[in-house]
Amino acid sequence: MNGNNNRNDWKWQMAHRITTVEKLSKVIPLSDIEKSDIERCLKSFRMAITPYYASLIDINDPNDPVKKQSVPSIDETYSCENDLTDPLNEEGYSPVPHIVHRYPDRLLFMVTLKCSMYCRHCTRRRTVGEEDRVITEKELSRAVDYIGNHKEVRDVLISGGDPLIMSDEKLEHIISSLRSIEHIDIIRIGTRVPVVMPMRITDALLMMLKKYQPIWINTHFNHPNEITEYSARACAAIVDAGIPLGNQSVLLKGINDNPEVMKDLLLKLVHMRVRPYYLYQCDLSKGIGHFRTSVECGINIMHELTGRISGYAVPKYVIDAPMGGGKIPVNYNYVISSDDKEVTMENYLGKIYKYPLV
Ligand SMILES: *Cc1c(COP(=O)(O)O)cnc(C)c1O
Ligand code: SF4
Repeated sequence: MNGNNNRNDWKWQMAHRITTVEKLSKVIPLSDIEKSDIERCLKSFRMAITPYYASLIDINDPNDPVKKQSVPSIDETYSCENDLTDPLNEEGYSPVPHIVHRYPDRLLFMVTLKCSMYCRHCTRRRTVGEEDRVITEKELSRAVDYIGNHKEVRDVLISGGDPLIMSDEKLEHIISSLRSIEHIDIIRIGTRVPVVMPMRITDALLMMLKKYQPIWINTHFNHPNEITEYSARACAAIVDAGIPLGNQSVLLKGINDNPEVMKDLLLKLVHMRVRPYYLYQCDLSKGIGHFRTSVECGINIMHELTGRISGYAVPKYVIDAPMGGGKIPVNYNYVISSDDKEVTMENYLGKIYKYPLV
């Protein structure tokens, strides 16, 4: 990275993000039509690309997977028949601002709407990027009160936006408030920073997080091109700090909807000690129809992976059900039939086996 030290500072990366068409055209050659198309997209969902993430784009590849995830496409302005603005009904499950409480023992705590890079496929694009502020003191104490009053909650998933765009101090304030609630067992952080701004993973951040164990982090790699010496170093630092690191990918048409690409990604993640957790079916948010694949495509990929690579490398394929039904695992069906005598199954190679029930 040019040997320029500033580029390794996350605050420099935040300050130098590509947020306008003019700035983008200095990095990627754009025709006038492309420029006006992007301007149109920016009316509904803003753009921000860290210089680091932009440096991963191969400008000679029209289908570059990093570009597709970060540079707006006119396809975003088309709507599809089944599009929904709040596909997961997060508003309906929000008892107090910033909290989505859908499952009995755990909840989602969205502490900011800001991200370092706005993913074009973002499921929360209806709200993410709308404002830059982080949770206020008043909102925080209301959320903490809610969690404190719900003894069944043992797992808080801090998400956003991206929580790691906050300063260490602000983040520590939130995490320590949660840690002071006796019935909170694990605290999870969902962040794309290791992928799009890996220099955010500093020793100071990790030293702070280590004080509040058990902490788990989930990140969001979608393509092998996102694995670089920088992102690998960030992942290693997290794991070396004793924080288990998982990954959730979104199945994206033209990016990773291919068993070979997916296999390459998953094996590289496991090599970095990052455990693939979920593979999401792209949901029904408005403006991301061009990224959606069929469910059959996802099931085929899972079938291609299962049994062929280490079990550790295989994520769970889920559909986050519309209307707030939660994540539903969708699998290839290996059970062909079952009755009171036996279960007839198929193995990963399609060979038939029977398991007798006595
Ligand atoms: C995904 C999600 C969680 C966490 O679910 P896990 O399956 O435990 O990872 C919690 N709350 C909401 C609202 C979610 O969408
Ligand atoms: S980092 Fe997450 S919340 Fe932010 S734009 Fe990407 S998918 Fe959306």
